[in-house]
Amino acid sequence: MSKLAFLGGPKTVTLDPTEALRWPIYGEEEEKAVLDVLHRSAMSGTDITIKFENEFAKWMDMKYAVGYSSGTMALAAAMFSIGLGRGDELICPSLTYWASCIQAYLFGATPVFCDIDPDTLCLDPADFERRITPNTKAVMVVHYLGHPAEMDAIMAIAKKHNVKVIEDVSHAQGGMYKGRMLGTFGDVAAMSLMSGKSFAIGEAGIFVCNDRKYYERALVYGHYERNNPENVTDPDLIPLVGLPLGGLKGRVHQMSSAIGLVQLKYYDERCKEIRKTMNEFWDQLKGVPGVRAHRVDEKTGSTMAGWYYAHGLYKAEELGGLPIAKFCAAVRAEGVPDLNPGANRPLHTHPMMQTADLYHDGKPTRIAFTKTDVREATASLPVAAAINSQIYSVPWMKKYDKALIYQFAAAIKKVAANYKELLADPTEFPEPAGVWFTFGAKKPEK
Ligand SMILES: *Cc1c(COP(=O)(O)O)cnc(C)c1O
Repeated sequence: MSKLAFLGGPKTVTLDPTEALRWPIYGEEEEKAVLDVLHRSAMSGTDITIKFENEFAKWMDMKYAVGYSSGTMALAAAMFSIGLGRGDELICPSLTYWASCIQAYLFGATPVFCDIDPDTLCLDPADFERRITPNTKAVMVVHYLGHPAEMDAIMAIAKKHNVKVIEDVSHAQGGMYKGRMLGTFGDVAAMSLMSGKSFAIGEAGIFVCNDRKYYERALVYGHYERNNPENVTDPDLIPLVGLPLGGLKGRVHQMSSAIGLVQLKYYDERCKEIRKTMNEFWDQLKGVPGVRAHRVDEKTGSTMAGWYYAHGLYKAEELGGLPIAKFCAAVRAEGVPDLNPGANRPLHTHPMMQTADLYHDGKPTRIAFTKTDVREATASLPVAAAINSQIYSVPWMKKYDKALIYQFAAAIKKVAANYKELLADPTEFPEPAGVWFTFGAKKPEK
């Protein structure tokens, strides 16, 4: 009989991982805060949201924060705040969640995709610089899967070419780059706070910045009742008070803000436990063939925040070319949950970015307002195009459970040590292509 559970052997993992994986973490304080909103008939108010914004800004050491009903809306407000408009190009890594950039269509602007770095999985600064044109207004920097992007290089390039920087911190709230918090580098930043993310308060997003002008523009984008003479000092905006300038409503449900106020008190502490857990997990796997961590060296002052949607890098060539999907299936068979090949599908490959005419322009929306055809051939983004067969999700452990960490690591070591048995087995797996979204996405069976 084979040693591998995939081929009929005994499973490595005998412990129940439910508690370590449970998310979000909450207690009686959150429950009470939510009920208070209900009892005070305050669900659609803004008093608790404004408190949350103030506390959040303080936590990030930023001057301003504006809550939104989703990360998608907060990022749209960020685009409006820096003046993204018709014909503008917004450079964005192709490997990210769709809400990093598709909102550009709302402004008659277009995303331009750049390639990623195969180790950080964040945008490749050199490719970002190559794609700058006279029409480039801004770059959307995504700290993908919690990994800080290379901010030194990115900020230097942006400054040199007068390109505005928006940070999408949806995967990395509280994360650090060389000792400084993510979301404090760019002109503005915005992020999701929905329940799947590591800062989880329900359905909400938040925008942050230090510049009063950007703050006011973000505020009036989707908050009609806050677009009033008390909040607005910008002479360009004063005549426009009373209506939301984006034509959209983005108010936060105050039950989410109430949860946010409580979560903020414990967030850093909870992230610390996640980091201890995930770092110890990867420490166990040092030197295992085929297996690399997607993480930073914390000695540099950088961190992986709350390790949202933690992934590993896969080196098939060190395991005789074993396909990643088969490797993952074998590890799952050992009893490790949530270990699946790939992540997001590269955005530039979707028909919405290539052919769809969404607003009757008589040509693809993507290029309806641009001077040149910005649509990328897949070959021009080689790293992003191939990355889904080189990365896989690992269990996102939020509670430190030493025995469980060691069992999970042992399962991976066992599969790597016995890869030849998997090569000899005839079961075939398709190459992973990635998914358009991940929250609630179907997990492969077995
Ligand atoms: C989740 C997410 C968003 C959008 O946030 P919502 O709150 O779901 O609207 C934006 N960007 C990234 C990278 C995300 O993962």
